[in-house]
Amino acid sequence: MTAPLDTLGRPLGNLRISVTDRCNLRCAYCMPEEEYRWLPKEHLLRFEEIARLARVFASLGVTKVRLTGGEPLLRHELHELVRQLAAIEAFDDLALTTNGLLLAEQADALADSGLKRITVSLDTLRADTFEALTRRSGLERVLAGIDAASRRWPGRVKLDTVVMRGTNDGEVLALLDFARERGLELRLIEYMDVGGATKWNPQAVVPREELLALIETRHARAEPLPDRERAPAERFRLADGTVFGIIASTTAPFCGACDRARLTADGTWYLCLYARIGLDLRELVRGGKSEAEIAARVRDVWTRRADRGAEVRLEELARGPLVGLETLRRDPHLEMHTRGG
Ligand code: SAM
Ligand code: SF4
Ligand code: SF4
Repeated sequence: MTAPLDTLGRPLGNLRISVTDRCNLRCAYCMPEEEYRWLPKEHLLRFEEIARLARVFASLGVTKVRLTGGEPLLRHELHELVRQLAAIEAFDDLALTTNGLLLAEQADALADSGLKRITVSLDTLRADTFEALTRRSGLERVLAGIDAASRRWPGRVKLDTVVMRGTNDGEVLALLDFARERGLELRLIEYMDVGGATKWNPQAVVPREELLALIETRHARAEPLPDRERAPAERFRLADGTVFGIIASTTAPFCGACDRARLTADGTWYLCLYARIGLDLRELVRGGKSEAEIAARVRDVWTRRADRGAEVRLEELARGPLVGLETLRRDPHLEMHTRGG
């Protein structure tokens, strides 16, 4: 079957699968509220259902899969899902994004089941900042998780840092040193006005230019690397060989090459991080449709895709949070922690 292209000529190459909307942290940029409305348990796809959908996406050209959440390691026996996905030949990349809290105890099972790469979110090296930012303790466990990841996926561990002005922007150089000493690739992410970031304001964003200027106060010029392809991160190399990335989704989005779609834990498929409406694939899977029938539906929807959410946001003059609390309560699918980062 030929791979479909959307209305802007973008293929469907990359699928992020959220395996739970639950999380054991409450990061200020993602889950700043006291109360959340969770997806009903009976709606969560079973591993066999996720694997079935993954095969559908593989038949349409997806080669890269990333497991996410919420916190994916909260999903019971996650390594079993990894084993089922690793058996799909079309996938040349099978990765996971985690906050790292439960990683030290799960790294062996995940690596043995076929997980190829891992990204750990690390916003600070200070316990007090960690607690203020996540409203939970556990920095030591995250650092132990990063150590375990370095042992099991040498050369294939990334660290993701959301930089917020006044919170952790003073630690960018320390985080770069931390990553460099361990041979990990740090990626600095601009704070995004996604659903759920209800405290977002433009002043709290540290833009790409400022991050580069800050790094160049300590290091000689950061040389841009040419091989970006469809990846959201721009990569740079420092004179000592250290490679790091910047994901400038807020000030310099990269929608034109975006081949990513997202599947929530209850089987809703979104064509863009900012999309308001998704397609209910759970209904199709549980309604007895064949993989070919589901593939035909997915293909049809993808060929009509015109989403360029972050670029559209850039055109907003008075930019504030994407959606208000009332709307999020009505539809938790709009939350970043439901949709997966
Ligand atoms: N819980 C896991 C974690 O934090 O790594 C995986 C899910 S989390 C939603 C995935 C990524 O989204 C994380 O790296 C997080 O930093 C990022 N993220 C969440 N809210 C964001 C925001 N408002 N702006 C930029 N990145 C955000
Ligand atoms: Fe933080 Fe990830 Fe949890 Fe969001 S889902 S609160 S980014 S750990
Ligand atoms: Fe892709 Fe939407 Fe993000 Fe743009 S905003 S890069 S189209 S997911």
